[in-house]
Amino acid sequence: MSDGPVRLALVGTGIAARILHAPALVALGDRFEVVAVANRTPEKAEAFRRELFPGARVYRTLDEVLADPRVEAVDLLLPIAQTAAAAVATIRAGKHLITEKPVAASTREGEEVLAAAAGAKAVAAVAENYRFQPRFRTVRAILGAGDIGAPRLITWSLLWSMTPENPYAKTDWRAAPAFPGGFVLDGGVHAAAVLNLVAGPARSAQAIATRLHSVDGLDNTVSAGIEFASGTIAHLLMTWGARDKEPDMLRVFGDEGEILAASDRIEVRTPAGTREHPIDSGADGYREEFEDFYEAIRAQRPPGVTIADAFDDMAVIEAILASAASGHREPVRTARR
Ligand code: NAP
Repeated sequence: MSDGPVRLALVGTGIAARILHAPALVALGDRFEVVAVANRTPEKAEAFRRELFPGARVYRTLDEVLADPRVEAVDLLLPIAQTAAAAVATIRAGKHLITEKPVAASTREGEEVLAAAAGAKAVAAVAENYRFQPRFRTVRAILGAGDIGAPRLITWSLLWSMTPENPYAKTDWRAAPAFPGGFVLDGGVHAAAVLNLVAGPARSAQAIATRLHSVDGLDNTVSAGIEFASGTIAHLLMTWGARDKEPDMLRVFGDEGEILAASDRIEVRTPAGTREHPIDSGADGYREEFEDFYEAIRAQRPPGVTIADAFDDMAVIEAILASAASGHREPVRTARR
């Protein structure tokens, strides 16, 4: 495995770049050297560079970034409607890719990213931080060890808040979404990622939706039943209309026991008794996703979250939105592997 930092370009210098990726990349300064930053508004890229990565070059477009031979890898932090085309261009340019979620706005667009990634030598990863969080990885490990037998039912209520004053709500592209689903796709894809991580690929979804203090005029509240290929079923309740974010509990019920996963501790209940696992609730998965990306590049192995994994997460949300619109159960169009 060759070593030395990966020469990375950040494309998009908005909120996620500043508060989520930059701190992780600064902490991993031995593994990543940020050599370029790009934004459609160059003054914002320049301010970002000056404050965080003074050694970086400033560009306005992705094409300029891709033409720079110093850039080995690209981190995309763009509005959802821009992501798939930018991911395809990055992969075709032969650069390693890590892109924010969702990997595309639809399965139709996602097919193009999958096709570009198929056979590509460079690493193509998705920064789905929930798939790296210790809480969910521990649930998966407990299930893998067979501690509660075959999982039959998962329940999860995510009661989030999104007010007009929230900086995310104020971004132009969220205020007037040019992509389906608004926050149900933007934030809900994290929940789909966790369910896919825990239960495997999904098969179908049946959902109803409504608006509760919606900031973008779209449905922001969903009650969904999801069926997985394994036979497990899940109930997922999500809203962005709660006054404040409420604590949540992911519950998995199996043939031989139950897992109750809160953000700071996991309880496993079986006929033999109750066992507790403390969880590092400060580990939000951003640093871990970049550690994985670095190792995937240097060891030339697939990343922890592939384009196909993230495609499947987005496909669950697409099926939920389709079902809420049609009133019928809708298939989940998972990636062919
Ligand atoms: P943001 O603050 O609006 O930043 C988006 C960036 O893209 C900005 O640099 C913006 O430029 C640029 N941009 C806006 N519209 C554009 C357009 N039409 N064409 C090209 N560039 C454009 O958004 P964000 O909150 O950082 O979100 C960026 C990505 O991160 C999204 O995919 C989102 O889903 C993801 N995200 C993930 C998490 C997580 O926890 N994993 C959390 C938040 C966001 P200007 O500065 O000129 O507006």
